[in-house]
Amino acid sequence: MHNPDAETSTMNEAKPTKIRFEYGDDDEATATGSSNLDEDLPMCDPVDDDKTSADYYFDSYSHFGIHEEMLKDVVRTKTYQNVIYRNTFLFKDKIVLDVGAGTGILSLFCAKAGAKHVYAVECSQMADMAKEIVEANGYSNVITVLKGKIEEIDLPVPQVDIIISEWMGYFLLYENMLNTVLYARDKWLVSNGIVLPDNASLYLTAIEDAEYKEDKIEFWNNVYGFDMSCIRKQSIMEPLVDTVDQNQIVTNCQLLKTMDISKMTSGDASFTAPFKLVAERDDYIHALVAYFDVSFTVCHKPTGFSTGPRSRNTHWKQTVLYLEEVLTICEGESVTGSMTVAQNKKNPRDVDITLKYSLNGQRCVISRTQHYKMR
Ligand code: SAH
Repeated sequence: MHNPDAETSTMNEAKPTKIRFEYGDDDEATATGSSNLDEDLPMCDPVDDDKTSADYYFDSYSHFGIHEEMLKDVVRTKTYQNVIYRNTFLFKDKIVLDVGAGTGILSLFCAKAGAKHVYAVECSQMADMAKEIVEANGYSNVITVLKGKIEEIDLPVPQVDIIISEWMGYFLLYENMLNTVLYARDKWLVSNGIVLPDNASLYLTAIEDAEYKEDKIEFWNNVYGFDMSCIRKQSIMEPLVDTVDQNQIVTNCQLLKTMDISKMTSGDASFTAPFKLVAERDDYIHALVAYFDVSFTVCHKPTGFSTGPRSRNTHWKQTVLYLEEVLTICEGESVTGSMTVAQNKKNPRDVDITLKYSLNGQRCVISRTQHYKMR
């Protein structure tokens, strides 16, 4: 069963693409005592309120909401903070490039940890806020905010020692910001330089999910007595980003792909990986679930986080791929197959996934290929 407290979102409605989540009651606590009366407005330049929803539709990172969600993802943000503050030896007197700086949070961590200079590159309107934030915190002499795309900006230095970035999308690769990090690495990183994080791994497992599959997929078979199953075909093709309860897990978790961000090429982000998921109990399988880990292996003590169903929730949740038919699996039997992941040819930010799977069990024999699109 999916966590009823968490909001669900299909990839389709995900604009902005990083979606809201909450930790406990903290939100309520921070909401009280604040006011939106004019006299309480901060003394910065007037806010650019000419923006309409159309601007944000194409540039969701310009709105603070998406940054609020990322910053409040403490698993994410605390891990970066720990990596930086507990490994100051990496940063001392080093030149850092923050790829996709957003509010500038990672640049501020690096500056505080003793970096010689930090270049914070951000293409959205949030770059203007990052400049103010850097100034307000007294780091203007250490952090230079550059507004523009990594692929288009002129960096004032020929080389950097460290590249830091939080580029991961849903299913790790959705939004394809990894290419931007690799571009920056190849253009500016010194030969013995480091990339943070330097490791990302994608995993697959299988879950029982009868109730939710009924609600999200089979729903379309009979809508107030009408057959809308043409929409069912579309809905099953869209991976669902949602939290999975660890009790739903039926099989082992299989590592699909590990990426070494300091060495890989952009082509390595498209791959076919085999899998074998062995049932740990008699159960039904309604979906396969993908999630990722990232790690910072150059730290004094290796550090990282997981977005898996057995770990504390993050705003990435997990990615659920529903199967056409229910698999009836017995303990010890396995679903074997392969997953192919590729950039969409028309829109490189979208991801095409092909799942081939088969089960040759006592109670169920099935072999199938399904196509999915993250968009
Ligand atoms: N580093 C921030 C923001 C991470 S989200 C934090 O950790 O909170 C990724 C950011 O990268 C977004 O703000 C997005 O606008 C920016 N971005 C994406 N592609 C980019 C590109 N090609 N050049 C510059 N910035 C980019």
